[in-house]
Amino acid sequence: MVKVGIIGGSGIYNPSMFDKVEEKKVRTPFGPPSDSYMLGEIDGVETVFLSRHGRGHRYSPSTLNYRANIYGMKKLGVTHVISASAVGSLREDYRPLDIVIPDQVYDRTCKRASTFFDDIVVHIGLADPFCPELSRILYEVSSKKYRTHDKGTYLCMEGPQFSTKAESNVYRKLGFDVIGMTAQPEAKLAREAEMCFAIIATVTDYDVWHEESVTISQVIENAAKNEQAVQDIIRSSVKRLADMGDCQCRHALEGAITTSENAIPASARRKLRLLISPYIKG
Ligand SMILES: [Zn+2]
Repeated sequence: MVKVGIIGGSGIYNPSMFDKVEEKKVRTPFGPPSDSYMLGEIDGVETVFLSRHGRGHRYSPSTLNYRANIYGMKKLGVTHVISASAVGSLREDYRPLDIVIPDQVYDRTCKRASTFFDDIVVHIGLADPFCPELSRILYEVSSKKYRTHDKGTYLCMEGPQFSTKAESNVYRKLGFDVIGMTAQPEAKLAREAEMCFAIIATVTDYDVWHEESVTISQVIENAAKNEQAVQDIIRSSVKRLADMGDCQCRHALEGAITTSENAIPASARRKLRLLISPYIKG
């Protein structure tokens, strides 16, 4: 059974997108998620929406509880997560209002808890941090209507400040394509929780390297247009996800738990049961 999780800014959430909406609070061993989850359906497929920054945009990219947000999705039975993220472009041909389905991420964050596994040793593979199949479907749906790029390296910075011109120029030289603040640790945690995960990145502006000066009102206008596009892409993708077969992401912990079973403390077993129970006896 496929259940699709959607993480995005509150501008992405439009109750009319969903049937049978119900609000649910979820408790996790990692503290409270950013907000209640909105359970619903699109075309008969179960969906779960979470406002990443909480209602009223209360949590910054550095302070929001990524672990609780992703764990909550897992606890609700989510199998596939679509994460919407506003980004700045680091290249001329990724223009404002373009959609990017990134295939790589470079993590420059430094203040965020980025693993569920502090109590045991688990090394998951992250060479391809986003689910290729989920990304492919999002690209196919998006490119029918919007100027869409099927790859790109997402540079995830800590923030909350934007870059200096010197930093932005260095990022361009390093070959990064878009810059945002939320792709990590979301992608890492979704992999640890064995959920397929992909990003719809929407370009609001060129980052500060570009000569073209952008006014705040243009950025806001672009962000609003992008939110409409994301809603549209999600609505049209969900049905196709229901037909996705099994995927490697769903078995990411196979062979990845390094701590021997008899060395896993009982407290860790209890805390991590939801994630590791398929791989340990008893
Ligand atoms: Zn996958």
